[in-house]
Amino acid sequence: MAFEGLSSKLQEAFKKLKGKGKLTEKDVKDAMREVKLALLEADVNYKVVKDFINTVSERSVGQEVMESLTPAQHVIKIVNEELVTLMGKTESKLNVSSMPPTIIMFVGLQGAGKTTMTGKLALYLKKHNKKPLLVAADVYRPAAIKQLQVLGNQIDVPVFSLGDKVSPVDIAKAGVENAKKIGADYVIIDTAGRLHIDEQLMDELKNIKEAINPNDIMLVVDAMTGQDAVNVAEQFNASLDITGVILTKLDGDTRGGAALSIRAVTGKPIKFAGVGEKLSDLEVFHPDRMASRILG
Ligand code: GDP
Repeated sequence: MAFEGLSSKLQEAFKKLKGKGKLTEKDVKDAMREVKLALLEADVNYKVVKDFINTVSERSVGQEVMESLTPAQHVIKIVNEELVTLMGKTESKLNVSSMPPTIIMFVGLQGAGKTTMTGKLALYLKKHNKKPLLVAADVYRPAAIKQLQVLGNQIDVPVFSLGDKVSPVDIAKAGVENAKKIGADYVIIDTAGRLHIDEQLMDELKNIKEAINPNDIMLVVDAMTGQDAVNVAEQFNASLDITGVILTKLDGDTRGGAALSIRAVTGKPIKFAGVGEKLSDLEVFHPDRMASRILG
């Protein structure tokens, strides 16, 4: 289960507060030290942790009296609220174009789960009575086009491809035109991933972005990679000004670092989460539900 270690450590920290009727400044300070360690062990970005602890400490020490809550409950409430804020407060929706089709460009490193996620999002849209089109613009990985076609078949969503001899920019442009022709209201473009970020990859993605002017540039990152995912997000954001992040593999034993740091570090919202290998394993990312899951 995701966040397991973090959850149990936070609960441990709060347990000590619960036995006390009144909290002294030292009680709060001790608890915050434990919360801090728990977050750092969960691989949350150091600066994010520092700011978080400062905010929670300030609010907890100067806490207004609430008759319905014990002091410990009040601290937990503040931690919950600040976790929600850290992850973006409310859910963040897709940017929908006023003139269809809405163009969604998927970017990310190889293995992050990008191609699978294009299928998941297409299925999600279909369930919401939309008509998506998948576009295969990864011409480098030999099996990528085929993989997308198999996914499309499984969910009965059309896949646009021009093979692997045409440039990704031209495929993306033709894909958008094709969406208009067949009356698709969403175009989801799967672009190439690499094992590492390199200039050539970024240049190609920039060219695609310029050519099709997407409504959303969605970065797919693997939550299991913790702060690496955050670094990847920072770099993609610096080059492409992404509009959203999708965290995959949140079903695994991810420690939580990516989910808790990405929004604060990049300023970009997490819009969806992948929670399994099946195409239906997609969740809208709700910061409040995620915080409840973390606090257990
Ligand atoms: P790409 O290289 O980024 O296109 O990655 P793929 O879509 O090919 O996925 C890489 C691997 O991760 C595959 O084995 C997927 O089944 C797996 N995968 C993708 N998303 C998830 C997820 O949310 N949870 C789990 N457990 N596995 C996933």
